[in-house]
Amino acid sequence: MSSDHPLPETRFYGVGVSPGIARGTVHAVRDDAEEVAQYHITPAEIAGEIGRFETALIQTRAQILEMQQKIAEAIGAKDAGIFDAHLLVVEDRTLIDEVLRKLEADLCNVEYVFQEVATHYADTLSKIDDPYLRERALDIQDVTRRVVRNLQGKAPKAFLALTDPHILIAHNITPSDTATMNREQVLGFATDLGSRTSHTAIMARSLNIPAVVGLHDVSAKLETGQEVLVDGYNGLLILNPTPETLWHYGELRHRQEQVAAQLTGLRETKSMTRDGRHIVLSANIELPNDVAAVAKNGAEGIGLYRTEFLYLNRQTLPTEDEQFESYRKVAAEVAPHPLIIRTFDLGGDKIASGMPADDELNPFLGLRAIRFCLEHLDIFKAQLRAILRASTAGNIKIMFPMISGVAELRRAIAVLEECKAELRQEGLAFSDETEVGAMIEIPSAALCANALAKEVDFFSVGTNDLIQYAIAVDRVNERIAHLYEPTHPAVVRLLKMVADAAHAHDIWVGVCGEMAGDLTMVPLLLGLGMDELSVSASLVPRVKKAVQTLSVPECEQLVADAMLLDTPAEILARCGEVAQRHYGDLIG
Ligand code: PEP
Ligand code: MG
Repeated sequence: MSSDHPLPETRFYGVGVSPGIARGTVHAVRDDAEEVAQYHITPAEIAGEIGRFETALIQTRAQILEMQQKIAEAIGAKDAGIFDAHLLVVEDRTLIDEVLRKLEADLCNVEYVFQEVATHYADTLSKIDDPYLRERALDIQDVTRRVVRNLQGKAPKAFLALTDPHILIAHNITPSDTATMNREQVLGFATDLGSRTSHTAIMARSLNIPAVVGLHDVSAKLETGQEVLVDGYNGLLILNPTPETLWHYGELRHRQEQVAAQLTGLRETKSMTRDGRHIVLSANIELPNDVAAVAKNGAEGIGLYRTEFLYLNRQTLPTEDEQFESYRKVAAEVAPHPLIIRTFDLGGDKIASGMPADDELNPFLGLRAIRFCLEHLDIFKAQLRAILRASTAGNIKIMFPMISGVAELRRAIAVLEECKAELRQEGLAFSDETEVGAMIEIPSAALCANALAKEVDFFSVGTNDLIQYAIAVDRVNERIAHLYEPTHPAVVRLLKMVADAAHAHDIWVGVCGEMAGDLTMVPLLLGLGMDELSVSASLVPRVKKAVQTLSVPECEQLVADAMLLDTPAEILARCGEVAQRHYGDLIG
């Protein structure tokens, strides 16, 4: 189309989950098996088809090798070994010979023939009652998609193989996809599924990648190569932005840069309210590399290390020694500030390929987090031993996720004590002072907080889960995202119970869910008496600025008012008033 007839601008509305603006070319990822067209060829065209086939196999091999190398660099050669099986598929003589034979017999285009032969091959293997052969069937399907895409001249699907900067558009992106994303190449992303508190969104914030999720069917509407703009502030994806739109976003970016420049000056300042109450402001991290952003943004240590992210892209769980090294390094880097290590929260939307798992109908209510660890003591103990051994390198605290009641907490603590006894016997050093905490993220734990407080040194409230379980709203389901309301009166009451119980037993209480980084919620959390807020590193300067402009009595009054209100909207409006009054420029 000529410049006289610019392509029309189209706007798609979703949920902005990671702030920022990104502009670029779409790379659309489609997960479903794509239709492969069938057409007839003449005998004279067979040689040409064989040539195309050979080129596609060579190209596929090169892509697999490149991916293998990238994974080896990122997480170690051992894990990159899974691609050896993929390489074997492109070299499989039986498969290749069958394609050549069928090409001559059927006189059809080679992508169609190859897809037919490979699918038949994979189907046969998948029906044999042998886990190894079933795995091979998956390898064949994976490689088949890649070869077919190469024959069709399409870009490879795997995010890791992409070498040009792009905006990723997909039906869904899993937390493990995000964990392996190349920050240099992925300028922004937009997905049909997802919500603010999905782990994919949390990772996007950590990586500082502007992202919009919950766009329903956008992945079916956009094509690779189109020009888009991702507005992660307002949850907008704009196809073919007009010059006016680009100008508007240029201005917005400029304003945001000015705010960011002002906030940089806060790095060395304390997170203290106007009336002198120190609120510990820490950062959440998912991967060891995130640690650089902690001090850079002026956080006082790490309030939540989601250790399970270390394992989401591996075939095997890491050994105790590997974990020890990893925790030791992070602890030393943030010392003397604390590093709060949360034990594995595998399950829910985080499934590691190496973990023993069965399909579950309701994974968020299933064998997740502490439940999984207490069922797999070998995995749990290896992690606890590694954490304890690393504890001499810094100020490490341990916390258990998804605690539902006292008996479960006591079981977890007993395993920890068992690990300490083993280490003592083996003469391995650890700090006996290591504080132990419980995450409060299940309503039953909030209701029993008085009893739990007697067993631990601190509480950290996981509002992402607490809200989903309190209101029965799946945190990753975009269709009910409007029901996911942090200011629901039930949530406010649960939070109050937890804070009051902690203080009645002289332990500290923090919030490490996404609510802590929501500037509108900060006055409510301070009024409830939270001692610590742990947020994405990139949000630390904004939250610090908010804390510095607030005073405790005003926040306590807000809570008193909120306790008299009956709807989430009314409570949200009151929080919004306080936030706007003090730092309207930060919330826009
Ligand atoms: C939470 O549930 O609020 C939390 C911090 O843990 P995660 O988001 O990893 O479930
Ligand atoms: Mg949680």
